[in-house]
Amino acid sequence: MVLNMGKPKEGKNINGEKMHYSVGAIIKKDNKYLLIERAVPPLGFAGIAGHIDEGESALQALKREIKEEGGIDAKNCELLFEEELDWNWCSKGVNAHYWHLFKCDVLGELTRSERETKSINWYSGEEIKELKLEPAWEYWFKKLNII
Ligand SMILES: [Zn+2]
Repeated sequence: MVLNMGKPKEGKNINGEKMHYSVGAIIKKDNKYLLIERAVPPLGFAGIAGHIDEGESALQALKREIKEEGGIDAKNCELLFEEELDWNWCSKGVNAHYWHLFKCDVLGELTRSERETKSINWYSGEEIKELKLEPAWEYWFKKLNII
């Protein structure tokens, strides 16, 4: 797949339902993962994530979200996988999201988005097991055998 190709903001899934395109970031440092507590539904602890804007590439969206939500710069971004979650609703009323999950490193001082996050911090796998995760992220962390 071509990562730097611009994408539409939404499309339709195989069942003809409206689908948004999303990116998410697995950010690991010193055996801990960077999580936010979401201030916007769906609530819970989650990795940095968001919608791809019209005409934006997945990689551009990823870097923009990491900057917006954490005030940090992403580097060494690598696509782990792409997958549609047809049960993953968003506050815009869409149930299907086609995800691009990346792993990457970050640079700079954490500065959280007051609007989108209640907190931002680093957590070990053991600590993540105790958190109330946003459902998509519970799914990703299980899929990656982190929890
Ligand atoms: Zn959405």
